[in-house]
Order: sequence, then C-alpha cells, then structure tokens
Amino acid sequence: MQQILNYVNGRLVAPISSSYLDNINPAEGKVYSLLPDSDLRDVEVAVKAAEAAFPLWAAMPFEKRAAILLKIADLIDRDLEKLAWAESVDQGKPLKLARAVDIPRASANMRFYATASMHVSSESHLMEGEAINYTTRTPVGVVGCISPWNLPLYLFTWKIAPALAAGCTAVAKPSELTPMTAFLFSKLCIEAGLPAGVLNIVYGLGGKVGQAIVEHPKVSTISFTGGTVTGKTIAATAAPMFKKLSLELGGKNPNIIFADCDFEQAVATSISSSFSNQGEICLCGSRILVERSLYDRFKTEFVKRTRELVVGDPLDEKSKLGALVSEGHMKKVLSYIELAKTEGGKIECGGEQLKLSGRCVDGYFVSPTVITGLNQLCRTNQEEIFGPVVTIMPFDTEEEAIGFANATTYGLSATIWTENLKRAHRVSHQLKSGIIWINCWLLRDLRTPFGGMKQSGVGREGGWEAMKFFTEAKNVCVKI
Ligand code: NAD
Repeated sequence: MQQILNYVNGRLVAPISSSYLDNINPAEGKVYSLLPDSDLRDVEVAVKAAEAAFPLWAAMPFEKRAAILLKIADLIDRDLEKLAWAESVDQGKPLKLARAVDIPRASANMRFYATASMHVSSESHLMEGEAINYTTRTPVGVVGCISPWNLPLYLFTWKIAPALAAGCTAVAKPSELTPMTAFLFSKLCIEAGLPAGVLNIVYGLGGKVGQAIVEHPKVSTISFTGGTVTGKTIAATAAPMFKKLSLELGGKNPNIIFADCDFEQAVATSISSSFSNQGEICLCGSRILVERSLYDRFKTEFVKRTRELVVGDPLDEKSKLGALVSEGHMKKVLSYIELAKTEGGKIECGGEQLKLSGRCVDGYFVSPTVITGLNQLCRTNQEEIFGPVVTIMPFDTEEEAIGFANATTYGLSATIWTENLKRAHRVSHQLKSGIIWINCWLLRDLRTPFGGMKQSGVGREGGWEAMKFFTEAKNVCVKI
C-alpha cells in the first residue's frame, strides 16, 4: 500500500514516530494509502529547515523565485490527470470536477503569485518639504499554512503560493483526510528545483501537527482555512504570542432570489451553488430565500432538477455528486437532516444515505436534499452543515430578505438574483458577507480580496492582500 511521506528540508522522509494513519477512499469506504502520523518532533525539524532556508530564499532575485514557482505550475498542468484522479479518490468529489476546477485552480494560484512580487510598488510620502517617508515590505519569515479537505490542492496552493512568492518559507499541513495531492505536489516541488527547506509539508492530525505549528515560537504567521471552531482554538493559541493570523472559516450563505430574476439562470446556477462538490464548498448557498410570488414555481422546478442529479461513482463521468469525505462527516450531515425534521422541516427530496452498487457499495453517499418549512432561527438554518442539504424559505419584502440573509453568525458569501440593477447594488451594500455575487456564483478575479465577515473569518486573502499578509511593513522617515 502506498505510504505518503513528509517533505522536510527538500527530502521525502518518514515520520519520526514511524506511525501512520489510514487514508480512506470515501467512495469505497476502504483504506487505500497511509499518511504519516507526525508529531511535535517532525514539526520541530521542519521549522528548523524553514528557518535555515529563509535568508537565501528571501534574498533570491524575484525573477529566480518566480521561475521556480512557474515551473511548479507547469508541472501541475503536465500532471493534471494524475492530480485530478488523486483529488477525486481522496475526497470523493467527481473526477470531472477535480479536472475542471481543483487542479487548474492550483496551477493558477502558483502562476498568479509567481510574478506578483515583481509588480508590487512601495509607497513614498513627502511631508511638506520636511521629510520623506517611505515604506518597505519584507517577508515575515517562517509561516504556517493549514488547509482543509474540501478543495485540497486548490486551497493548499492558495496559501503556499503567496507565502513563497513573498519570500517566506513555510511549514504546511494539509488535512489528514485528503493528503495525497499535497504529497504529489511535494514531488513536483523537488522536480522544479525548489531549494531545500523553502516548503516543508508535515502530515498528521490537527490537534497534534496543526497545533504544534500554531504553537511554535518561530512561526510568526499563520494562514488557516477550516472550521470556525478550529479557528477559535487557533486564535486563542496564537493571541498571547501576537502572531499574525488569517482565518478563513465556515459559512451559512444566503442565496436570495427576487421575483424579477432571470428564472432559468437562477435555477440552474442555484443547483450548482447548492450541490457542487456535494455541497462541501464553504461558498455554497445553503439557505435559499425566494420572493413569495415566485416561491412555488421556484421550489417546484428546483426540487425537480435536484431529483435529476446523478449521485454516483466519482470516477464515472456522468456523476454530478460523488461521496462525502468521510463516514464521520456523512453521519454529521445525516444528523442535521434528522434535526431538520424535528424542527418541523419538510423533506422535499433526498434526505437519506444512498447505497450504491459495485465498488462503491460501502461509500459515503447522501442524496441531495431540499428542506422547506423551517424558520430562520432554527439550528438547521443557523449552523453550517457542509453537505448536499439546502433549505428554501419565502420572503415578502427586500428588507425581510436582507434581515434573513444577515441572521446568522456567519458572513462568508451571498448571492442575489434580480434584473433590477439598483436593487442589486442596494441589497449587496446591506449584506454582511465578504463576497457577494449578483446573478452568478463562484466567479472571482484572483486580484480581489477574499475572506469572511463575522465568524466566517479574520483577515483577507487573495491578490495584494495575501502578499501584504506575508510581509511586514516598515516606515522610514528621512529628514530633508
Ligand atoms: P477543520 O477545522 O476540521 O480542519 C482544517 C485543518 O485544520 C485541517 O488540516 C486540520 O487537521 C487542522 N486542525 C484541526 N485542529 C487543529 C488545531 N487545533 N490546530 C491547528 N490545526 C488544526 O476543517 P475541515 O473540516 O477540514 O474543513 C471544513 C471547514 O472549512 C468548513 O467549516 C468550511 O466552511 C471551511 N472552509 C472555509 C473556507 C474559506 O475560505 N472560508 C474554504 C474552505 C473550507
């Protein structure tokens, strides 16, 4: 059985404990590889390697750094099929989706940030003939990058690319549920000639490896994407050490549909925004709010199309939804469906575990589920389920829609469907969400800041924001 190895100081090495964890293929419910059960000691060696590599990497001319990162992007493109397959087997997502979204985006992340540092300008301010103030930005040093399982290589590279481009060195940890693409990525880093110690990848459990990275005094900056509860633990650990933190956390995103929308587009895109990646995208719109005059028509059409979605073997090109990432996560999703029933919800379609045949007979599949009849404040509508489960609720006025949309502790993303331009702007300004889509979903220019409001996160990633995050500003004032 294949054994994943840590990537430390430029080499692929076994964990110091020599212990391994099972890596399960969720479509089959079977162990298909092993990953290091690393601990504090592996993190210690990785941080030392990153510290040692930092001066040379930070001093390397931009063009040389960029060339290495671009080479990694080229190698991702070359290995697209292999990486997409690994992403699909690790996470349960349809291979088609990994091929079209996850892996191309991982390559785009590397490419985007490779040259970003060459296009950054520093600021200078003249103080009325008295002095010149100028600002320099230098890389912060060793950073910790911790990522989740839902878009494994996509989110892993989203952190690593700006960190390395800014001149930092990194100790990174992918989710223990989806380690395979990070392992393949480490081999590409070696092939591309990334100097030893610039990127170190330590696999293992969050409470052990992740916590050790966050606690390490030599890791000054943490970029984390994951659940809000984990984010709170990280914030509490990092705060007394005054670490720089970027926390990209959970969401419970509203999808607001006004009666004057382009009906066909609204329905078709809402199907994607509800069920893509089995609903395991932090930006999925899990609360659909529909203006009352359109409610019945929308609900009928949405439920009809949800029933038509093919849930199946992720490697089958016909499958629209694959398996949920783990048995534990499947049970959590199913428990929320039971909760919805006790809260008075009506299951319009789905609502159960699906038993497939053939190699997927023991996989973790849940049918796409639509629930109606719930109020805004019930737990089903307040807590992140992170699966193929959406609720649909009617609203009567624009103000009510805004109130419903803002009525959770989360504030990651929101979608508005209307052909009324004024209303689109007016509503978007009142929504407390870090990103708002009008008549579309999941479109984003990588130059824009990305992140959540309220309990969906702290800090912004993307574009120049990420480059700033991984650098420290210093002001120099020169008397003239
Ligand atoms: P998680 O919080 O359980 O784990 C995320 C990562 O943190 C994993 O690598 C895990 O091993 C590690 N970890 C766990 N405990 C830790 C600790 N004490 N210290 C340091 N690291 C620790 O999240 P998950 O279940 O992997 O991912 C799903 C969550 O991620 C959802 O809530 C989803 O909304 C969120 N998410 C957010 C975004 C965003 O951009 N806002 C993007 C994707 C996913």
